[in-house]
Amino acid sequence: MAQFQQAPPALKNQYDDDRVLRSYLARVLPADVLSDVQESLAEMGRLAGGELHELQLADRLNEPTLTQWDAWGNRIDKIELTPLWQRAERIAAEHGVVATAYEQRHGNLSRVHQCALAYLFTPSTDIYSCPLAMTDGATRTLLNSGNQALIDRAVPHLITRDPKEFWTAGQWMTELTGGSDVGLAETIAKQEPGSNTFRLYGRKWFTSAIASQMALTLARPEGNPPGGRGLALFYLETRDAHGRTHNIQINRLKDKLGTRKVPTAELTLDGTPAQLVKGSTDGVRNIAPLLNITRLWNGISAVALMRRGLALSFDYASKRVAFGAPLSEKPLHVDTLKTLQAEFEAAFHLAFYIAELTGKSETGEISDEDAWLLRLLTPIMKLTTAKQAVMVTSEVLESFGGAGYVEDTGLPVLLRDSQVLPIWEGTTNVLALDTLRALGDAQEGMKRFERAAMSCLEGVTDVRLVSVVRSALNHAATWLVKGEDIESGARRFSLTLGRTIELALLIKHERGSSSNRFASVGVDVIF
Ligand SMILES: Cc1cc2nc3c(=O)[nH]c(=O)nc-3n(C[C@H](O)[C@H](O)[C@H](O)COP(=O)(O)OP(=O)(O)OC[C@H]3O[C@@H](n4cnc5c(N)ncnc54)[C@H](O)[C@@H]3O)c2cc1C
Repeated sequence: MAQFQQAPPALKNQYDDDRVLRSYLARVLPADVLSDVQESLAEMGRLAGGELHELQLADRLNEPTLTQWDAWGNRIDKIELTPLWQRAERIAAEHGVVATAYEQRHGNLSRVHQCALAYLFTPSTDIYSCPLAMTDGATRTLLNSGNQALIDRAVPHLITRDPKEFWTAGQWMTELTGGSDVGLAETIAKQEPGSNTFRLYGRKWFTSAIASQMALTLARPEGNPPGGRGLALFYLETRDAHGRTHNIQINRLKDKLGTRKVPTAELTLDGTPAQLVKGSTDGVRNIAPLLNITRLWNGISAVALMRRGLALSFDYASKRVAFGAPLSEKPLHVDTLKTLQAEFEAAFHLAFYIAELTGKSETGEISDEDAWLLRLLTPIMKLTTAKQAVMVTSEVLESFGGAGYVEDTGLPVLLRDSQVLPIWEGTTNVLALDTLRALGDAQEGMKRFERAAMSCLEGVTDVRLVSVVRSALNHAATWLVKGEDIESGARRFSLTLGRTIELALLIKHERGSSSNRFASVGVDVIF
């Protein structure tokens, strides 16, 4: 009888074990802030590497359920979440995974602290980041709207740490007509005579987090013109005090490739009461703050999933023996993992840089140049990190050999969940076109981007590193000046900018911290 048993990969405290996160925080946070936030991060790291991860593995086969009718023929449309998600909701509230950004204990750096919590929390909760992202985005949108009645009504629930009071928010934009061209939306809003309340009639085709207590959605007030301008942004609550939906039928849950814990539903709104958030037009523009926040979460989730895969893969490499030695001693396997690590680290620094800029923007401490950069880099960051997550998690599966393809290792879900990141919150192409818009005047915009990238390299003496960044910038600028086929090349152009700024930020980090491990690998990998 063969006696061999393979030790599985294991996770330690996911904060203590994360050199990249720790060295980043040590660089950007003042010592007193770092010391203040460390306990919360270590606690989240302990949960993520321990209790939540064990629950995640035990919960693997569970999925949310929709019960449309009760035994007596009443339409109830009840959603039951899985045990992992029920626990995740509680932990998210108690640990302030949304609230931290709004409590502002550390001014503009509160956003960095919150993103670090989200980054640790996400990969052990099977994308509970989805409802949290929309909750965060809805909070920001309501606060920006100046609609005091809605702020007073909803925001305290969205940012509370009390699980009994905690609400999550949905974001219902996509209809059958399209998630990219949302101006085609067909949902109609009819104002009740003599009242500020509207009734919504239409179908929403992808609504994640349908268990949420509220949603922000788009609908066209009767008489408004077609297109995006004619849509208005509405606030609605999904159920009454007895748990009955507010004239919302949940037609079915989507049968998806991944994110299978997320209850993504198709809805019919049949007279759903709703309030205008801000004016009766320009809904697409008014929902933009929500999308900026969910795109940030998308990037944080991308780096979190990459990090989880690599944490498991590095651990496994020290345990799996082939041809007389652990994989961790095989130069080619080590090189493979190092290139993936470089991808992850580059993506990490871009995603967290957006967190830094977002924090400054929220406290009104952002310069005009940084505000412009935040507008430009948000779509670039989202599209670049999402693509990297799919590539890295695919490679992570291969690094386990056949085990990476076997469901009860808990590994394949990393790839399936990553695959949604380039699709929702704006596809790669849609964001690439947005990048061109954000650039404004192409040549002037490119010059500003170049200044931002090169400022990361101040004081860098490694000629090779500087020349790779400079040549990528020249390449992009030359293509732009030619002005040929700008639209069809937008994706390649945006990815070039994304990878260039990632490399520049990776170099900046290694210059500003004691670590100097991955910039040179990054040069080879990223270009
Ligand atoms: C799991 C999941 C959960 C979701 N949850 C939500 C949710 O909670 N709320 C919500 O509102 N939506 C949600 N969505 C919908 C998601 O945002 C849309 O699927 C996405 O925006 C794309 O829209 P679409 O599916 O209609 O594709 P389309 O808009 O039809 O796009 C199809 C393809 O065409 C490309 N394309 C479109 N326009 C252009 C162009 N001008 N130039 C070049 N290429 C173009 C796109 O990149 C894409 O590849 C969810 C989707 C998924 C998969």
